[in-house]
Amino acid sequence: MNDTVNRLIEVLKNIKDELESVGWYPVNAESTKWWGGAETPDEVVITAILVQQTRWDVVHEVLNRLRKLGLNTLEGIANADPNYLAEVIKGVNYRFTKAQRLVKLARNITMIGGLERLRLRGDVRDFLLNQEGVGRETADSIMLFALNIPTLPISQYTKRVLSRVLGVNPGDDYDSWKETLEGLIPRDLYTYKLVHASVVTIGKKYCLTDNPLCDECPLRGVCLHANSRK
Ligand code: SF4
Repeated sequence: MNDTVNRLIEVLKNIKDELESVGWYPVNAESTKWWGGAETPDEVVITAILVQQTRWDVVHEVLNRLRKLGLNTLEGIANADPNYLAEVIKGVNYRFTKAQRLVKLARNITMIGGLERLRLRGDVRDFLLNQEGVGRETADSIMLFALNIPTLPISQYTKRVLSRVLGVNPGDDYDSWKETLEGLIPRDLYTYKLVHASVVTIGKKYCLTDNPLCDECPLRGVCLHANSRK
């Protein structure tokens, strides 16, 4: 298994162009770039809430609107009126609930001294999980991309792509997946960012639920599922 994981990581490091063509490649460990054009830690937190049950292209448009209004920072959101924010984020699903939650989250983070302070706390994940609207995948995404803490978010793409590539399937439970994959993939900030960015890209473009496009997929050489079909 370790060999397959190491080969997978090597392949991922070599498909930069493929990932970039979809719009996102983690250039280095410290990079806080995320899906939807998010560039800063604050934007990662904001878009992590906005994207729930919403397409990334919609979030991208909304993020540009927030930038023009100076609402792309947690401080800006913390001082905003939730009803006004709900108008600004039009297009995002459940915008009234999300506006309320975003304002509360931004206020709670600014109250403890901002993201830098949050990063230094021993209870970062619990702090995030105690916020309304922040589930495990959102908390782990914020930790990895906004706070640069090596923790692996488990998305539907992670499960689909890595169950096929590595032949692992720890069931439906989020924590079982996380424990299994973090046990297999070396805990390293850049590697975790690379794995997450890659599986989302591959999962959207090639590793479709019913008919995976293995012949075109850059992972076909290391993928157990693809090789079992030969
Ligand atoms: S080779 Fe096929 S099964 Fe494997 S990751 Fe790519 S699309 Fe999915």
